[in-house]
Amino acid sequence: MIPYGKQDISQEDINHVIEVLKSDFLTQGPKVPAFESALTQFTHSKYALAVNSATSALHIACLALELGEGDWLWTSPITFVASANCGLYCGAKVDFVDINPKTYNMCPIQLEKKLKLAKKQGRLPKVVVPVHLCGQSCDMEAIWKLSKEYGFRVIEDASHAIGGKYKSQPIGCCEFSDITIFSFHPVKIVTTAEGGAALTNDELLAEKMALFRSHGITRDESLMESPSHGSWYYQQVDLGFNYRMTELQAALGVSQMSRLEEFVSKRHVLANNYNRLLEGLPLKCPFQLEDTYSGLHLYVIRLKLEEINLTHKQVFDALRDNGVGVNLHYIPIHLQPYYSKMGFSEGMFPESEQYYREAISLPMFPNLSAEQQVYIVTLLRDILERKL
Ligand SMILES: *Cc1c(COP(=O)(O)O)cnc(C)c1O
Repeated sequence: MIPYGKQDISQEDINHVIEVLKSDFLTQGPKVPAFESALTQFTHSKYALAVNSATSALHIACLALELGEGDWLWTSPITFVASANCGLYCGAKVDFVDINPKTYNMCPIQLEKKLKLAKKQGRLPKVVVPVHLCGQSCDMEAIWKLSKEYGFRVIEDASHAIGGKYKSQPIGCCEFSDITIFSFHPVKIVTTAEGGAALTNDELLAEKMALFRSHGITRDESLMESPSHGSWYYQQVDLGFNYRMTELQAALGVSQMSRLEEFVSKRHVLANNYNRLLEGLPLKCPFQLEDTYSGLHLYVIRLKLEEINLTHKQVFDALRDNGVGVNLHYIPIHLQPYYSKMGFSEGMFPESEQYYREAISLPMFPNLSAEQQVYIVTLLRDILERKL
């Protein structure tokens, strides 16, 4: 089966990890700070906190922004559940903003409409989490402007988007957000096996996230509530977690970061191939905004179901039955049973629901070959023309 996503691990990546295994530190050594500097250098953000997953990064980001009981977090229905769950971890309530039918990202017009209504009802969100679906940036300038007007904070979920750009700035620079988070899961653009990071330009937010990452404990006397007892001393000043990244993961991350630009440009070559090969088929290829450079984590097509005599599921299953590991990103979160129980139901976010009825993620990873792409598209064509 050709998977929809897969890591690319070089001999150099392996050597970096082995070096750590032979060193003094498996955790809490020099590699995590080195990985964090690689992230700030690449993105031009001031601070980066590496953690054990993007889910953890979202959690500490929400905590640092003081999201809590009685607050609202808004995100897109078309994202991984973690983008919404982080609000629930903090005791906040979650709501959604429908997507733009072209980009599949949170629609700023829908956001403004919902904000106007929420203001009247006294239930404005404290945090909004725009998700750069497939690696293409949301309209961050518009969202940031609304955040100033309506007083909410912004966490960019850039799990798909490291290596991408928005208005010629690297995604992660936090020009139009308080915090940006990345994921380093193996299917994403660079990997640390499991891993994530939270980036910010705000010193106070960085300090708070560093505390939440490691038990709420500090060894920095300036953050203590009373004088240090001596060089052994640490103080717990808040309730945190153990969300630390290991040295092995960070070493892999450092090595992978040196190949980030190569990874993304390979993904662009593959996307251009798909665009060309898929021409004339009854489906929509991804829409490319002019002022963004996508990280291209995913390549999502949408079937024009009115032009074919097959169901979405039939096309999807036929691809899988013939060795193409397609996937669907994502099932609208509000339709998940856990969220339905909070009162969400079908019909609430029509663009997201329509997307879900038509979307298929084709395989997209740096080592996908041009021959494999021809196989995938030929297969898809045969399925759509009912030759199979
Ligand atoms: C993968 C992903 C996450 C979670 O990442 P982990 O590192 O697996 O916790 C969150 N949001 C989005 C949009 C993702 O794709």
